[in-house]
Amino acid sequence: QLNFDVNAVARKWRVDAKQVASPSELVNDLFASDVLTLEQLSTRLSKPAFKSLRATVQRGEQLDASIADTVALAMKTWAMEKGATHYTHWFQPLTGSTAEKHDSFLNPTGDHVGSAIMSFSGKELIQAEPDASSFPSGGLRATFEARGYTAWDPSSPAFIVRHANGATLCIPSVFASWTGEALDLKIPLLRSIEALNQAVTPAMKLFGASEGTRVSSTLGAEQEYFLITEEYYYRRPDLVMTGRTLFGAKPPRGQELEDHYFGAIPDRVLSFMTDAETQLYALGIPVKTRHNEVAPGQFEIAPIFENSNIAADHQQLIMQVLRTTARKYGLVCLMHEKPFAGVNGSGKHCNWSMGTDAGENLLDPGDTPSENMQFLFFCSAVIKAVDEHQDLLRSCVASASNDHRLGANEAPPAIISIFLGAELTDIFERIVSGEGGSRHSAGLMGLGSQVLPEIPVHAGDRNRTSPFAFTGNKFEFRAVGSSQSISFPTTVLNTIAADAVLKLTAELERHLAAGTTLEQAVTEVVKDTYKTYQRIIFNGDGYSTAWHEEAEHGRKLLNLRTSIEAIEALHSPKNIELFGQLGILNERELAARQEIMYDIYFKTVNIEGETTEYLAQTQILPAALSYLAELGEVKVGSKAVDGVTRELVGLSDELYAHLQTLREQNEALGGEEVHEKAHHMRDHVLPAMQDVRAAADKLEKIVSAKHWTLPTYRQMLFVK
Ligand code: ADP
Ligand code: MG
Repeated sequence: QLNFDVNAVARKWRVDAKQVASPSELVNDLFASDVLTLEQLSTRLSKPAFKSLRATVQRGEQLDASIADTVALAMKTWAMEKGATHYTHWFQPLTGSTAEKHDSFLNPTGDHVGSAIMSFSGKELIQAEPDASSFPSGGLRATFEARGYTAWDPSSPAFIVRHANGATLCIPSVFASWTGEALDLKIPLLRSIEALNQAVTPAMKLFGASEGTRVSSTLGAEQEYFLITEEYYYRRPDLVMTGRTLFGAKPPRGQELEDHYFGAIPDRVLSFMTDAETQLYALGIPVKTRHNEVAPGQFEIAPIFENSNIAADHQQLIMQVLRTTARKYGLVCLMHEKPFAGVNGSGKHCNWSMGTDAGENLLDPGDTPSENMQFLFFCSAVIKAVDEHQDLLRSCVASASNDHRLGANEAPPAIISIFLGAELTDIFERIVSGEGGSRHSAGLMGLGSQVLPEIPVHAGDRNRTSPFAFTGNKFEFRAVGSSQSISFPTTVLNTIAADAVLKLTAELERHLAAGTTLEQAVTEVVKDTYKTYQRIIFNGDGYSTAWHEEAEHGRKLLNLRTSIEAIEALHSPKNIELFGQLGILNERELAARQEIMYDIYFKTVNIEGETTEYLAQTQILPAALSYLAELGEVKVGSKAVDGVTRELVGLSDELYAHLQTLREQNEALGGEEVHEKAHHMRDHVLPAMQDVRAAADKLEKIVSAKHWTLPTYRQMLFVK
């Protein structure tokens, strides 16, 4: 009954619901047309109200609550012009996805039936109360009231989300408990952006930045995803329930031909991409790049970087639009980190830097010695930050799904290191040795010269195997998982950078107080920092076993192999102090996050374990047995029949035996505490699932295709 004509579906939708625009429409009318921009607000608010709101948005000043009513009115009018009938606070609970609860603008008036107005008050704009008990709180609510509230975040603009029958006004919001503790991913992100600003601006003053300069982190996230035909998706309960295939023999052809990466994009996929991009443009999201990725059926979309608060919201919208748009084309978009074993997984490379409100990139080497000085200082801070907080960088990307990627052959290792590139490494080493200069300008700079080297723009060369790579004017954090919210990884990047910058600035000031020039002081700080932390720099092949050896034993870098170790490391005394001192997360908020990570890990693997059991029992074993029965009906003696029968019996028994073990492990939970359950999942359920799968995948290769009910890798990956 699911055997509908997929292409007919795709054709139908292309005509009915396509969202595309001509090139000139794109720039003139479409871009950000569904966003309530400051420009829009300036025409809709009184001058004083607009000025006050702009100060909040651009300079982080306290919101003046008295303007809420006029802003709400302007928002409602704009939203209704756009066709919105409802509004929602749009927020990011600790599940990692977004949450919304729609309310209609419509309100009955008076006491007789039949009249109504569309209304939206300042009070409704500023605060709402969803049922907080339905969201994970990691124990944060247990000792207090179950209530939580969402509050308008004016620093991210409101926008319209459209559906086939209308539209909704979405108001970016934060989510907190009544006691003021963060129940979401957004509050710590906003706190970390402010902490970074507080940490970096004093250093910038030393480098001559003008009064009032503000600094924020910038972020551009490259999203990888798979597309498969919808019909196959519905016929794979494992994909529907868990987002990944729990079974599937490796097809005769995988990605070894290397013909897919950057290849011509199939027409249907390109139509889907164009449609999705058009919607994203309307949302003001500057998507820039699209291409085939390494694995068959894998693609990538990347926006131009933005302020990291906006980038985090936009990243969620990118995932949402890709998911919903794929359906219009009879496709399903898989965001899971490892939907298919044996081919590349999906990541979300987070390109991160720090920039001023005037657009200056602090990690851009620049053309002048003074720009270089500033660059080397901030680059050193990042080196220090990454070395001191390897554990945090590993924990902020920890999840059951990302474990299939990190540390596997074709993804960044679980060991955190930095790729600097040969040229930049050379420059640091020359500073340490006192030689100065660079390979290009050594003669000019002279031994011991205090003049800092000229750094060629795009000094970074290419290396795909490093989890944290300098790529010319930013760092690329590649361990982030494709399905994950970028909010927490970005919070961690901002936090550890703020911490390191604060400490190095104190060093700088100490040198300056002793009477050295700024140039000498920076040279000393850069030299000391590089000497102390150079073990974190690795420019070689991060996938090699030799590196794993050297990193762990030679350099004593952390190797937190699975999420369980990484989650454990999150709530350490060092991290409690770090997050606490900078005001990002208090001890309870941090503990809550750890608890939720364990819980999500446990639940994810638990669902996988049960789905594996169910599928093996109800589809895979029956396929093998019915084929066996069919062979049993062959009456003439045949070597082929005997041979296949023997193999089938052997493998079916193997599958059956592993299935019994899996069933036992699924029933045992390993303990009462959530970390005990998570450990049980990793140590007992995952291996039992693996054994069941191994037998099932061997069966797939010998059972007649007629009996095999699950779509195969060959179909899912190659039919487009
Ligand atoms: P590549 O991966 O080849 O270096 P790009 O230089 O185009 O490609 O950058 C890839 C991603 O990095 C894009 O999303 C881009 O917006 C982002 N990016 C570029 N500059 C910065 C920056 N200063 N801060 C954060 N992200 C950046
Ligand atoms: Mg890249």
